[in-house]
Amino acid sequence: MTKIMTAVWAAGGRVSGLGLEVARAAAQLAAEMEARLIVLALGTGATTAAQALREAGADEVVTCEEEALDASPGEAGLVALERACELTGPALVLLPADSLGRDWAPRVAYRLDAGLVTEVTDWSLEAGRPVFQRLVFGGKAIATMAVAGGPAVATVRPGAGRRDQPPRPGQGELRTLGIRIAPDPRWPRVVRRQAEERQGPGLEEARVIVSGGRGIGGPEGFGPLRELAGALGGAVGASRAAVDEDWVPPTWQIGQTGKTVAPDLYIAVGISGASQHLVGCARAKTIVAINRDAEAPIFDYARLGVVGDWREVLPALTAAVKEMLAG
Ligand SMILES: Cc1cc2nc3c(=O)[nH]c(=O)nc-3n(C[C@H](O)[C@H](O)[C@H](O)COP(=O)(O)OP(=O)(O)OC[C@H]3O[C@@H](n4cnc5c(N)ncnc54)[C@H](O)[C@@H]3O)c2cc1C
Repeated sequence: MTKIMTAVWAAGGRVSGLGLEVARAAAQLAAEMEARLIVLALGTGATTAAQALREAGADEVVTCEEEALDASPGEAGLVALERACELTGPALVLLPADSLGRDWAPRVAYRLDAGLVTEVTDWSLEAGRPVFQRLVFGGKAIATMAVAGGPAVATVRPGAGRRDQPPRPGQGELRTLGIRIAPDPRWPRVVRRQAEERQGPGLEEARVIVSGGRGIGGPEGFGPLRELAGALGGAVGASRAAVDEDWVPPTWQIGQTGKTVAPDLYIAVGISGASQHLVGCARAKTIVAINRDAEAPIFDYARLGVVGDWREVLPALTAAVKEMLAG
């Protein structure tokens, strides 16, 4: 039977929103290809993530909790992933396009002598073979790519393969990878971990994102954005212009050189809609734009647009949202 493998970081039993999303999308693809989905869960305590991965559609959850993963997740994770691939021989390895997935993908592709497609935004099946899409030229064009013969490795962006179908329940057999990973003194080691201070959901997980750009005019302008995001249970993002002005931290940036997000609702406030920004939010289900310039390119992509000064529009919108939610 054809096998699809995905690997997720699951230390402490917690899998990122993107990791679960990739597992769900991979399960959907596995169903269409009549393939078996194997999810490799890595990190100390990964076994406790098994249930969530079963619910995401894994036919088999393989865990590796080797201590070396804590200190050197990139290197030790690669050893585990390579071994898991050797044991199961997947036709396709789908990895989240996060820092670890991007680190592993080219290296595991080289080791498996596989074809590599990075930053995949969507896929379809043609003659039983996955055909991938990725954005090129800063999001101005879409390249369609397939791996000719042999296994394929792909990194998957948020929203890729999303079909909004309920996850296919996997049988979720649980196994351990059963290898010892001896740390190599030459491996890079994690020396410090610093969690980002953020209230509410992270950008990659949020179903609603309220994003501000240069039109916000200063750091204090992000207060009203935070209020609307809070009312909607969402997160606040930003354009690069707002980050470059030092109004908000770089971790808030959405776009080509920032984060890729795929919320249900993306509210762009005072953002012009440059292609480098849109490439990061194009997979949002609904984009709403608030901009005082009726000619701003963002209106070409927004499903709903309000032409006006955000200082007037946003408080009215926030008040209406609060009223609706209270009623
Ligand atoms: C290699 C490269 C990578 C890049 N990566 C990224 C990236 O990852 N993310 C990103 O965002 N950008 C990125 N950029 C920058 C990108 O090209 C744009 O410069 C940037 O997105 C513009 O940000 P902005 O829309 O906030 O600002 P602007 O383009 O200056 O737009 C501000 C908007 O606010 C509106 N406005 C002003 N005042 C108000 C008001 N009171 N009420 C309502 N609307 C108002 C204006 O009409 C205007 O449309 C990248 C550029 C390059 C070259």
